[in-house]
Amino acid sequence: MRWSQYFLVTLREAPGDAEVVSHKLLARAGMLQKVAAGIYSFTPLGLRSLRKMTEIVREEMDRSGALEVELPIAQPKELWVESGRWDRYLNEGILCHLEDRKGTEFALAPTAEEAVTDMVRRSVTSWRQLPFNLYQIRTKFRDEIRPRFGLLRGREFLMKDAYSFDVDQKGLDVHYVKMEKAYRAIFERCGLEYALVQADSGAIGGSASEEFMVVADTGEDALVFSEDGKYGANIEKAVTAPLPEPWAGEDARPFGEADSPTPGLITCEDQARHLGTTVDRITKTMLYEAVREDGSAFVCAVLIRGDLDVNEVKLPKALGAVHARLVAEEKLPEISGCRPGFVGPIGLKPPRGQAEVPVYVDRSMENARNVWCGANREGLHHSGFSPRRDVKVAGVVEVATARDGDPSPTGTGVLRIKRGIEVGHIFKLGTKYSVSMKCEVADPQQKMVPLVMGCYGLGIGRTVAAAVEQNHDDDGIVWPVPLAPYACAVLALQRDKEVLDAAEKLYADLSAAGVEVFFDDRDERPGVKFKDADLIGFPVRVVVGGKALAKGVVEVSTRREKKAEGVPPAKVVEVVKATLAAGARTLAV
Ligand code: ATP
Ligand code: MG
Repeated sequence: MRWSQYFLVTLREAPGDAEVVSHKLLARAGMLQKVAAGIYSFTPLGLRSLRKMTEIVREEMDRSGALEVELPIAQPKELWVESGRWDRYLNEGILCHLEDRKGTEFALAPTAEEAVTDMVRRSVTSWRQLPFNLYQIRTKFRDEIRPRFGLLRGREFLMKDAYSFDVDQKGLDVHYVKMEKAYRAIFERCGLEYALVQADSGAIGGSASEEFMVVADTGEDALVFSEDGKYGANIEKAVTAPLPEPWAGEDARPFGEADSPTPGLITCEDQARHLGTTVDRITKTMLYEAVREDGSAFVCAVLIRGDLDVNEVKLPKALGAVHARLVAEEKLPEISGCRPGFVGPIGLKPPRGQAEVPVYVDRSMENARNVWCGANREGLHHSGFSPRRDVKVAGVVEVATARDGDPSPTGTGVLRIKRGIEVGHIFKLGTKYSVSMKCEVADPQQKMVPLVMGCYGLGIGRTVAAAVEQNHDDDGIVWPVPLAPYACAVLALQRDKEVLDAAEKLYADLSAAGVEVFFDDRDERPGVKFKDADLIGFPVRVVVGGKALAKGVVEVSTRREKKAEGVPPAKVVEVVKATLAAGARTLAV
């Protein structure tokens, strides 16, 4: 392709609202334009990278035996009501939806479990017709609360979503492993450094769920890894080995024997300092309002060590609920009689319709003795609190957020926290959708059974952006070869006939040899051409200039190393091909 005949404009400055490097560079390279919050257009150059990613995903999905389908983006509300997701997604505000002229409502698919389950139940009747895995690569819509970071969090974005169908769990396990393998192949082919971490599978069940993460400082997810590499989990899911107990070996003292005023001291740190103790001996009493799947709600207390925080993703499941929210500050006095800071586990008043306020204890405090707790009275703390002795424990739960330096649950080494970008997610769904939508087949004993499903998402645009986050320098993008819009750039530095002819010939030779070449034949200064080639990040660059030509060579370099070598024009095709085949890190001369 020739730049003089292309539609491409690079920018010196990144758009003012671009916050992350991938958005800045893709916009500056003229590959991406923001149209509205979370909504983007791809230019011809940008679309090439997106398509490359799409093709890699399609090839690996096909190789795994998955079958491509196309499901509607506009999906009738009835399907979503059947699965129970219409109200939930509407309440969460994530669902984009529309109404036709007759008032019929549609969801714009954020994923397609309903549509695919509907497709399958319409035609499958017997276990003999299974198993299979259906996938599509299509636009998704999500009304994200904070659409930002360019392609990393869009409201309209391209996703590959696959759904496997089996008669039993064993079949699902096989599909799950196949998908893990396919995803590994995809991210390896893209040249990405990634990690597989355990993920929360949500309050609605599902037995296993893992995320593929690209480790990058700009990532929105916190990841927990053990230093020995044996453990990795999203922080939403991560657990630790039991923490050392500061009260170990002590006898329990009487409750309240040395109660102490703590006027105006809201934080556990301030209270500990005032009480002359350590913060792990202060009980944090958190009041939550939890909602069960049947819609009923209850208020409960969660006790956790003052140096730890409750992980609100883990909490609902531990309470047997679908979600749990902190009791609003203005409602606290009704239940505890005081403001935050002094809430305690003893003497809580249940809201109307509830017999008592159940008290759950985090594992970190299961055996606690002689710790402090709020007195449910402004400015007062009780001493000598031992949860097992002093309150009726409704359950011991594991809901603490893991911290950098905590002991690894594998029993060896400590945990470290890094940031990452979730690019893929594989999930053993089970029968949630097949039960609610009655997607059943007759098993070998002629009994009707709901199908066992898995779902597997992969963000196409997000992965392209993650590749840029991981591969760039001060001058621009450093594309991994498989995702580069063009593998090679040819730059003609001057406009005289000799240079132009030589550049034209190289362009023709490289193209004929099957190399994807972008020919910068514009009437621009050399400096402009160099800067643009660096910004766009073509993996290999061939520079044709008068001085070098006089010596019988052109200059070839890789974007990653930028070290130019003189190569005779007749050898350029061979060098470029070998360099690309080797991943274009260093020049193959
Ligand atoms: P996140 O936690 O980042 O919001 P998610 O867990 O809701 O993502 P999934 O429902 O698992 O996302 O979607 C599957 C894949 O689709 C994700 O792994 C990600 O690569 C991609 N994806 C999800 N949301 C977005 C988005 N708003 N913009 C771009 N890609 C997205
Ligand atoms: Mg996910």
